Amino acid sequence: MALPHGYEMVIGLEVHAQVTTASKLFSGSATTFGAEPNVQANEVDLAMPGMLPVLNAGAVDAGIMLGLAIGAEINRASVFARKNYFYPDLPKGYQISQYDQPIVLGGKLAIELADGSGRDIGVTRMHLEEDAGKSIHDMGAGNVSYVDLNRAGVPLMEIVSEPELRTPEEAGAYVKKLRTLLRFLGICDGDMEKGNLRCDANVSVRKMGETKLRTRCEIKNLNSVRHVMAAIQHEAERHVAVWESGGEVGQETRLWDPDLNETRTLRSKEDAHDYRYFPCPDLLPVQLTEARIEAVRGTLPELPDALRARLLASGLGAHEAGLIASDKDYAAYFAELAKGRDAKIAANWMTVELFGALNKLGVELEKSPISAAALGELLDLLASGKISGKIAKQVFATMLESGKGAAAIVAEQGLAQVSDEGALRAACAKAVAANPDAVAKFKAGNERIFGSFVGFVMKETKGQGNPELINSILREMLG
Ligand code: ADP
Ligand code: MG
Repeated sequence: MALPHGYEMVIGLEVHAQVTTASKLFSGSATTFGAEPNVQANEVDLAMPGMLPVLNAGAVDAGIMLGLAIGAEINRASVFARKNYFYPDLPKGYQISQYDQPIVLGGKLAIELADGSGRDIGVTRMHLEEDAGKSIHDMGAGNVSYVDLNRAGVPLMEIVSEPELRTPEEAGAYVKKLRTLLRFLGICDGDMEKGNLRCDANVSVRKMGETKLRTRCEIKNLNSVRHVMAAIQHEAERHVAVWESGGEVGQETRLWDPDLNETRTLRSKEDAHDYRYFPCPDLLPVQLTEARIEAVRGTLPELPDALRARLLASGLGAHEAGLIASDKDYAAYFAELAKGRDAKIAANWMTVELFGALNKLGVELEKSPISAAALGELLDLLASGKISGKIAKQVFATMLESGKGAAAIVAEQGLAQVSDEGALRAACAKAVAANPDAVAKFKAGNERIFGSFVGFVMKETKGQGNPELINSILREMLG
């Protein structure tokens, strides 16, 4: 929704993406989701005296990978710094992060909007940092808070955008695209519900045409695309109201309350100097060789934009190509389904029939009762003329319910297409003989009535007649 009084929004996003490493950024503790509290925290995570961090090389490679994928500069030397603050779930009293020398600088992310348009959004930087633990306040009786340190030290990539987003829709598209890319690269699960992708939205407003940025507020920890969009809209409207009433927006960190549909002050915004950043004396600067960067480049999979372009070139429509390229699981399913088959037919069956059915069942593709191999078997029966398109849909429905294979269902229910010319000729002859009126009309030039003959024959053959053969036999008989 546009803003009143000629204002526009200025939005910059900070996305925290949990890197899918087996162990933490600086310790060997596991990172498995959903473990019992505090069973995945060792001496390093607990900040026992004398313990030293050891950098996880896999997390660094993930950072290089993302940098390459967005066309960024990979810093040959980056530095880990201590960001000092007090949290009950931060035993060291500081977070190890990167400050003025992050691993990745610059880059671009191409976003796509619902109307089919798109544009590039600048990425400012990406740095690696460790996550904090989790305070749990509402468990058990009494005013007791608990601390779970399983998450302490889990590797995060913080990806910061330029303040180039202008609408909540663009912000939503940016988060979705980043999620898609991270999942394609296999470096983050991108599951916002589980918190392994979180977003802070920085929002300010200004009058159209103004070039200077006004004061921003940062809304913390938005955990769904819907929340990102709603929080930005409300925050921007709040800013307009403050400016229009002659007030001034103060720099703040705010929280989004999805139940009340409003943002609330959490604290006045701290500046970098408040954190007393300094290089972490326990860690050497990260030096990256060309060989290492090139080795990572060699592991890059086909990226979503390239896949989309390739699908478009192979004849798929923009909607289908965009949809299949929007998720790693979709892309993998399609790759298997389309292998050695007609891409357009495969895309159509996948995005219309299968996605429609899964949508009704409320099931993700990952848990689809029909695998790509199983759907492929159905498409092969269709392509070889063994079954008709109409029967294929019937078989598909049975596959969904019973979990049986397409060929087995066709054999069991005797659904194979009738291509036996003798049988079809007999049925066509019957159609002609039984409908003298229609024959007369057809001969008088009523082309549309031809369909009624086809319908008659289809009924006779229980929908299993080969439509092409029926057509040609009828044409021949009707002259
Ligand atoms: P901090 O850690 O202080 O939040 P960062 O540099 O990590 O600082 O992130 C700042 C974010 O805020 C970036 O995404 C940037 O694009 C955005 N931003 C900066 N100034 C403004 C502004 N005036 N209005 C909206 N967004 C802004
Ligand atoms: Mg911030």
